Amino acid sequence: MRRMLVAGTQMQCRNRLRRFMSHQKRMVRPHTPSLAQMTRTAIDTLSQDPDGFFLMVEGGQIDWAAHANDATLVISDVLALDEAVSVAQAYAQQAAVAPLIIVTADHETGGMELRLTPSGALTEDGPFTMPDATPFWVTWTTTSHTAQEVPVTAQGNLADRLVGTHENTHVFDVMRRTLFTYATWLPVICAE
Ligand SMILES: [Zn+2]
Repeated sequence: MRRMLVAGTQMQCRNRLRRFMSHQKRMVRPHTPSLAQMTRTAIDTLSQDPDGFFLMVEGGQIDWAAHANDATLVISDVLALDEAVSVAQAYAQQAAVAPLIIVTADHETGGMELRLTPSGALTEDGPFTMPDATPFWVTWTTTSHTAQEVPVTAQGNLADRLVGTHENTHVFDVMRRTLFTYATWLPVICAE
């Protein structure tokens, strides 16, 4: 039986999990249009504005798949996000003013852990295969959000300001600085 650390009564937890699972069944993959296609259309439209633009693209299905502790769906939805990032990078290469591209998450979901050997845990998915054919397994500790730190990667103007470990609001500060040059900096919590 999967561990459930979702706050609430057992009945509430069961109902939440049921909703997550029914949501997953409704979503047909690959999504149409794909996240990459929607990103391309959004950039094509917004980049017409001579004042510049801000675009937030969310790979929201990754979270749903992790709530359902379904590593197969998480992997396919992360790959879909990766394609969307490639679209943004292709735009950045030919843009007159190089944009700041930030890829990050607002939280982790599921306590997802990758292992190179099977643990035999009931909450384990796999095996999956890396591009070099190395097998790996995925284990879960919860069906809810966690306080795990998340990675942030960036390219373009002021991307170097995101190096290190920061409060999550620092991402906002960097974006604000990029959009509005008068913005002031808040201190870095822990620079590596
Ligand atoms: Zn969530």
